[in-house]
Amino acid sequence: MTITYEYESALYVNLTNKCNCNCEFCLRHGKAQGSIYTEDSLWLEREPTREEALDSFLGRDVCSYREIVFCGYGEPTYRLDDLLWLVDELKARFGDKLPPVRINTNGHANLINGRNVCPELSGRIHTLSISLNATNAADYVALCHPTQGEAAYQAMLDFAREAAKYVSQVVLTIVDKDKTAEEIELCHTIAADLGVKLRVRSFIDS
Ligand code: SF4
Repeated sequence: MTITYEYESALYVNLTNKCNCNCEFCLRHGKAQGSIYTEDSLWLEREPTREEALDSFLGRDVCSYREIVFCGYGEPTYRLDDLLWLVDELKARFGDKLPPVRINTNGHANLINGRNVCPELSGRIHTLSISLNATNAADYVALCHPTQGEAAYQAMLDFAREAAKYVSQVVLTIVDKDKTAEEIELCHTIAADLGVKLRVRSFIDS
């Protein structure tokens, strides 16, 4: 079972395969085709306990990485309580030497956890990378198929705005594939209105 793995000098953490979305482009659809993101080992036969995840961290030279990234083959905020516990445990051991912590998320943490989790991120999470994916709710549903339907789009935007009060780097991301220049420009406007950044990512063809 792969809980932590290295990628481009960062330490990635895989706590769950659960997700409330089923994105058309999800790398989960391309499993077993060779890249680090498509290895079968990232499919967890069961979710690791937080103690197992901590052991996986402590088996590595944690402070040698440029960043710790909670990502995985699923939505990491399904394990938010455990994720934050892990950050606290690592901070207690490594203090200021702990690399900055990022969560790659679909932005549905508040929907998933049924509360405003943003204050809990303060002082623990340095970067939130939130998948924007679309410029409107209908396109978002067509692309990401969230179980909550169109309400999930506004919930993601609300989460980004709220999280920016507590997390220094909040970044909306889009994948450039199938996006027009006008759509990308609109994404810039959406991000600016929320007071966060936009990052346009290249599509990883899996
Ligand atoms: S939100 Fe992420 S993990 Fe979930 S289906 Fe979309 S790409 Fe996959």
